[in-house]
Parts: sequence; structure tokens; C-alpha cells
Amino acid sequence: MNLQKIAFGAAMIGTLFLTTTCRPKSDFPECDATFPSCDQVTEALLVGFSTTQDDQLGQKVVAQINGDPTTYPILPRAQYISAYEMVEGLRDKILNGGKVKNKSAFQWQIKIINKPDLNAFCTPGGYIYVYSGLIKYLDAEDDLAGVMGHEMAHADLRHSTKQLVQQQGIQTIIDIALGNGTAAQLATLGTNFFTLGFSRCFEQQADALSVDYLSSTNYNCKGTGSFFAKLLAAGQGGSTPEFLSTHPSEASRVQNINDRGDCIKCNTTPASGTNYAAVKASLP
Ligand SMILES: [Zn+2]
Repeated sequence: MNLQKIAFGAAMIGTLFLTTTCRPKSDFPECDATFPSCDQVTEALLVGFSTTQDDQLGQKVVAQINGDPTTYPILPRAQYISAYEMVEGLRDKILNGGKVKNKSAFQWQIKIINKPDLNAFCTPGGYIYVYSGLIKYLDAEDDLAGVMGHEMAHADLRHSTKQLVQQQGIQTIIDIALGNGTAAQLATLGTNFFTLGFSRCFEQQADALSVDYLSSTNYNCKGTGSFFAKLLAAGQGGSTPEFLSTHPSEASRVQNINDRGDCIKCNTTPASGTNYAAVKASLP
């Protein structure tokens, strides 16, 4: 084989590697200065880990939440129907916008946790938890839509799964998903999920995707930006809101969200006719 053939072969291998491990693409590639490439090594590891296994992994986290009602007191849906219907309506608008890759593969189940924390999270497989304190803290349904979009993007991009694989290894995560994990491995999974924050790169991807998701709804597509602007201002006033401890933030965050909204030219008019104030007042 001459040198030219070797160079061609190397280039092909390089191309194949990039093709099989490249980052997930957004629907607006011309605007992807605001949608960074993150961890391609873990991306490659997940090739053999199905979205069904994401769901099974999420169910293990849900079981831990259900087993600890003191830490995670869930508001009963039957008693707080208007709050649940609002959050579920937000979710459905995002899902029906056509931009959630795992719309059918994941559960996208909503639970409201009755605590004053400024927090929300989403497990692998799309089990979404929103704190009543966060709903009450926000000013408009658009801002909550932004938070929901951000959390759903973390699940859709399989960020938690990737980080859990990084922390415990792919074989352990497969074992846990299949129900073969040891008690110690399950405990470590819970600790890792609830205490370790996302990388800044994953945060930026989730922010960008939330703008894309909201661009297909009647909400202000920069809702995530106004949410972070308010949270960052609260953080400067003293204690750090819990959301920021697991979703690290930097000053450029709001700017990146606004830049992406400008680039994809999405609607920035707040949704009209919402009853957000009434829903806030209905919460305990
Ligand atoms: Zn986040």
C-alpha cells in the first residue's frame, strides 16, 4: 500500500469515527454556534444502550423518589388538578412541536414536589419533577415552559444517562437498568443522580434545545433566558438556588439563549390568555 492509499484509508477511518460518534444535531445547524459539541466518547458508549434502557434506568430513580416521601413529597394530582393540567399542557405543546427526538420512547410523566425549593429535574426516560416553589417563583407560564423545555432536553439528549455511565461505567449501568444491580450500586446511582451537577457543555446544549422546542409553541422561545436571568439575580443576593447547584451557570448563559433565539428567528411574544397567577395561588 502506498502512502497515498494509507492516507486515504486513515481519512476514511477518521470520517467513519466522526460519523458514528458525532454529537446529536439540532434542527438549526446554521445556528449551532450556540449548540456545542460535548462528550463524544460517552456518546459512542451509548450506541449499544437503548432508549428502553434509559426508561428502565429512570424507573430505578423514580423508585428511590417514591420510597422517600419526606424528601420528595409529591402533590396529589386529584387535589391540584389545575396545576397539573397547566404543567402537562406545557409538556404536550413541547412534545407536539415535532422537535423532541424521544417523544414516543420516553414517558414524559409529570410530578409536582411540594417544597419551596427553586428546583426541577428530569430522570433518564423523561420522568419530570417540578418543585411548587419554582412554579410560585416564576412570573409567567412562558418562563415555566422554558424550564420544562430545558429539563426535557436533558432527558432527550440522554445527559443523565451519559453522566451516570461516566461515573459508574457502562456495564454497571446496564446491570442496573436490567434489574441486576446490587443495593450498593443502586444507592450510588441515586447519590450520583441527585448530587452531581451537569457539565457546562450539557447545560448549554439543553438551553439551546429548549429554545428550539419552544419555537414550535405559542410561548416566548427565550423563556429559559428570563428564568435564568431571575435565578442568577437571586443567586447574587445570597444563597445559591438549588437549581444552579446541579445546573451550573455562567454569565454568558442568558446571552447564548437570546443569541440562539435571534438566529432561529423564533417568536418572543409571551403567550396570551394563560392563568398562571391563578395556578400559583392554588398551590399550597
Ligand atoms: Zn440543566
